Amino acid sequence: MGRGGLVPKTALITGITGQDGAYLSKLLLAKGYRVVGTLRHGTSPNLARLKYLDAHRDVELIDLELLEVTGLIRAIEKHKPDEIYNLAAQSMVSLSAEEPIYTLDVNALGPARLLEAVRLAKPDARVYQASSSEMFGIPNESPQTETTTLRPRSPYAVGKAAAHWLVTNYRELHGLYAVSGILFNHESPLRGRQFVTRRITLGLAEVARGKRDVLTLGNLDARRDWGCAEEYVEGMWVMLQQERPTDYVLATGKTHAVREFAEIAARELGLDLGWFGIGIEEIGVDSKSGRIVVKVDPRHFRTVDIQSNVGSAKKAREELGWSCKIDVMQLAAAMAMADDRRVCENDCEI
Ligand code: NAP
Repeated sequence: MGRGGLVPKTALITGITGQDGAYLSKLLLAKGYRVVGTLRHGTSPNLARLKYLDAHRDVELIDLELLEVTGLIRAIEKHKPDEIYNLAAQSMVSLSAEEPIYTLDVNALGPARLLEAVRLAKPDARVYQASSSEMFGIPNESPQTETTTLRPRSPYAVGKAAAHWLVTNYRELHGLYAVSGILFNHESPLRGRQFVTRRITLGLAEVARGKRDVLTLGNLDARRDWGCAEEYVEGMWVMLQQERPTDYVLATGKTHAVREFAEIAARELGLDLGWFGIGIEEIGVDSKSGRIVVKVDPRHFRTVDIQSNVGSAKKAREELGWSCKIDVMQLAAAMAMADDRRVCENDCEI
């Protein structure tokens, strides 16, 4: 029994070990949900993010592959989730260019198997699919909304776009309560180290503490709409509480360059970044010490880049009452401080 004698709702979260999975678990546990999370077979589970939020003891973890439909059916039959959040993905755009088939298997066929399992085993379960602003590619309008044309430019984005349309299909063909949240970039101290914001905050924290000489980055002028992950998972939950399932964009509506993000993080860490040179010769110099702390490395450029994107969360604001309160300054500062602590404490778990 849950609070007040009510039977608690059960949520099944795929990708529970990731950034969003950890924040969503924390949120749902606080709301009294029973949270069941899936782990991939054959990998030692990384529970560091759940531990960081002190949620690891309160979630039930099960082995489950998105690559196998019978396991999905069995898990749904056994755990009878009221809500399913499909967050598991091969989430690296750059890796998807190297591993396109695997990426499509996880990111497109994975949701297809999940939706089919829901249809067969528990058609009244509500499903959230983690769609992505990457689906817009080089957008044909700005800001991007729920109706902007999808022009995916990477296997990651192609997979997400296929899953996105499958969600619409299952809603229309089979009457499932399934929604896609088209989320623009959202970050936090729990962001994976391979993503640019985390590379910046961790790299500059190491530079500031003398543990590394220089941080290398790719396209400093790439602009992104960066929001706060904790606020975005709240949006996921609200999407599943509506009377009628439909898709929503979550975004801040503001865009910032990679170099701006680096400047904010650097300031927080006691560095004062100034930029000199152009293109791949550009360097970031700490004006206090005169040291070069940032260099451009062409290896970090994406083969096919999206120079800029920005979303409109108007529909989410009007229909869900969702909006973001944390801006990029607060976000970058919080991430920089968290990484400074990690560097000081030699804590490399996340
Ligand atoms: P993340 O930190 O990279 O987490 C990805 C999760 O997927 C991890 O739990 C990972 O498990 C799991 N996973 C990876 N490959 C898998 C596979 N083959 N089978 C099953 N699970 C697998 O990503 P996130 O930032 O939390 O994002 C959550 C979802 O939202 C993803 O689908 C992502 O593509 C999407 N999204 C994210 C953003 C963003 O800005 N964060 C924006 C739009 C959409 P392991 O721990 O075992 O690796």
